[in-house]
Amino acid sequence: MENNLEKYAELLVRTGINIQEDQILVITSPIECADFARLASIKAYESGAKEVVIRWIDEQSSKIRFDMAKDQVFDEFPEWIKTMLEGYAKKGAAFLSIAASDPELMKDVDPKKMSRQQKVMSQGLEAYRTRMMNNQNVWCVASIPTVAWAKKVFPGGTEKEALDKLWEAIYKAVRVDRPDPVAAWEEHQQNLNRRLDFLNNHHFKALRYKNAAGTDLVLALPENHRWVGGGDQGPHGKVFFANMPTEEVFTMPKADGVDGTVVSSMPLNYNGNLIEDFRFTFSKGKVVDFDARQGKEVLKELLDTDDGAKRLGEIALVPYDSPISNQKILFYNTLFDENASCHFALGKAYPSCIKGGDELSKEALKNEGANDSLTHVDFMIGTEDLSIVGITEKDEEVPVFEQGNFVNF
Ligand code: ZN
Ligand code: ZN
Repeated sequence: MENNLEKYAELLVRTGINIQEDQILVITSPIECADFARLASIKAYESGAKEVVIRWIDEQSSKIRFDMAKDQVFDEFPEWIKTMLEGYAKKGAAFLSIAASDPELMKDVDPKKMSRQQKVMSQGLEAYRTRMMNNQNVWCVASIPTVAWAKKVFPGGTEKEALDKLWEAIYKAVRVDRPDPVAAWEEHQQNLNRRLDFLNNHHFKALRYKNAAGTDLVLALPENHRWVGGGDQGPHGKVFFANMPTEEVFTMPKADGVDGTVVSSMPLNYNGNLIEDFRFTFSKGKVVDFDARQGKEVLKELLDTDDGAKRLGEIALVPYDSPISNQKILFYNTLFDENASCHFALGKAYPSCIKGGDELSKEALKNEGANDSLTHVDFMIGTEDLSIVGITEKDEEVPVFEQGNFVNF
């Protein structure tokens, strides 16, 4: 276990972030994960980091604040957070974030309060987030078990048992259980590249999704779309992995080119709330109808963020038969669940999904068909019977997915 912890910290710093000599590393970490954050900072210093800055998060305090602070604070943006994040970003810092929230901590918080807070934060941090989404800075999101999260995933047994099980599942997902994780990630990238080549070479103009749960929709793809996945090129041309794990290849649909209904296949942990058994109906790209068995109010708040929150910004393909999916664990954490399942995201599209998109202005991206929004929220739709057909420019139909898996791989 101890050995794996070292390997994991090293993997995140060297392969995930790919820290460079004299670079600053900003780690955002829950206080429960302090030991790991310290270990990661040691690994970063050993790899040449100039300085490691740790931004501690305490979700229990956030909950107390939601319950007890004066109402107007949820419409106020704390400037210091912008100064801090943008300041380091402009200095070329890399950002490692540890995502480990308690999936249900905020379930009794007024969803309106949360969405007001979310909105001012997204507005205030828009420039920072744009830098990340354009790969102007290197970033990586990864997870460390916490007791509350582990107990939600593995409810039976003791806290220690739950933690151990979640560690094991995470190590498997990020290939730390392999003798040489770095080599395993290189091989993984090769496999993703074969899928990317297949999709990019076909240059589909649309995809049609269908399954027995009721998903039946067509998504048009922008003329200049590209499929990406695995590592991204950072500002200095060095490869980094924005998510660890990552199993997806993804692109963007046309913001006004989605028609039909999509049904969720897993619960969505959104801001400490679970949204379950939900569906959206789209017309000309926009959600015109939606429902959820649980969390409908929270979902409504999400959709009401802005116009772009009612449209899709990402389409991602993950085989039903793949490493995380095969663990058959519901993680209640989007980083893991999205990499176990085909998914879409409501909200902002990644500019890198358009050829040369990282260099384009907001307006130019819009003209290419990219959706823009203050938000970007992934939700899972993959099932074991999902079929996806690609439609080429000559209107030929090419099977991409059958029975939940890539046809060719
Ligand atoms: Zn994704
Ligand atoms: Zn996403």
